[in-house]
Amino acid sequence: MRIIIGKTAGFCFGVENAVTKAEEEAKKNKKISCLGELVHNTQVTDELAKKGIKFIDNIEQANKRVIIRSHGVEKQIYDKAKQLGIELVDLTCPKVLHIHKLAQEYSKKGYYIFLIGKKKHPEMIGTVSFCGDYYYVIEDESYINQAIEEFRKTNKEKLLIIAQTTYSLEKFEEIVDKIKENIKENNIEIKNTICNATKQRQEETEKLAKQVGTMIIVGGKHSSNSNKLYELAKKFCKNVMFVETEEELDIEKFDKESVVGIMAGASTPKKSIEKVVEKLTAIC
Ligand code: SF4
Repeated sequence: MRIIIGKTAGFCFGVENAVTKAEEEAKKNKKISCLGELVHNTQVTDELAKKGIKFIDNIEQANKRVIIRSHGVEKQIYDKAKQLGIELVDLTCPKVLHIHKLAQEYSKKGYYIFLIGKKKHPEMIGTVSFCGDYYYVIEDESYINQAIEEFRKTNKEKLLIIAQTTYSLEKFEEIVDKIKENIKENNIEIKNTICNATKQRQEETEKLAKQVGTMIIVGGKHSSNSNKLYELAKKFCKNVMFVETEEELDIEKFDKESVVGIMAGASTPKKSIEKVVEKLTAIC
C-alpha cells in the first residue's frame, strides 16, 4: 500500500496557538473554563478536559477566568465578562479578529455587509454581532437574490462582502461573481477573508484526490473546514472516507495495492492522523 499524507494536514497556526495556550492556562489555573469548544475536534476537547479545563456554554457559569475559543464569540460576551468581573483569555484566531475589525469598521462607515458562510457556525454568530444592523448572511447561491433585495430596501449605497474563514474558495468566487452581475454600482468592496490555512488545505486536497485511488479525510464531524475537504475530495476521487478516528476506517476497502491519500482539517491533531496511518500500515 502506498500512503501519501498531505503536507498541510492537521493543525493550522490558529489552532496550534489556541491549544498550546489553553494547556498553559490549565497548568496555571485549576478553575479555568472555556466558553464553547476551543476547536471543533472531540479528541482535542477530551484531552483538554482531562487537563482540567471545564467547558461551559454560558459565561455566567464561569469562575474568574475564562478562555474564548478560536472561532471567537459575540461582541456582547466581552461586555458581559466586564460586567461580571471575569478575566478573558482571548484565544480567538487573529484571522477571525481581523474579520470582526473589518465588520465593525465598515459598518461604522455606513456599509451594508454580505457575510458568506454558515449562519449557525460559531464564527459567523460572532462576526454577525460586529456588523451592526445592516447585514445579510449568504449561505450559498440560493440566498443571493434575497440578500440583494434586503440590501436595496435599506437605500444604502455601499456594500462590503466578507466570508467565513473556512468557506470554500471556489464557492466564494462563484457567489461574488453572481452578486457583481446583479449590483452594477462601483461601490462594492470585496475582502476575501478565507484564511490561507483553509486555502492551502483545499488546494492540496484537490491535488491529492486526483492522484490516488482512495482519499481519507481525518477530522471532527462538526468541523467546517474538514467537511469542506470531504466535499472537495469527492469531486476528484471516487472513494472518499471521512473519519474522526482510525476506528471508523472501513478496512475491507483497502489492500496491499491501494494508493491512499490522507488529508486532515485544521483542527485535527497529529495523533489522530498517525493512528490512521498505523492502522493502514497494519493492513499491509
Ligand atoms: S483555519 Fe484559519 S482562521 Fe481558523 S483557526 Fe486556523 S488559521 Fe485561524
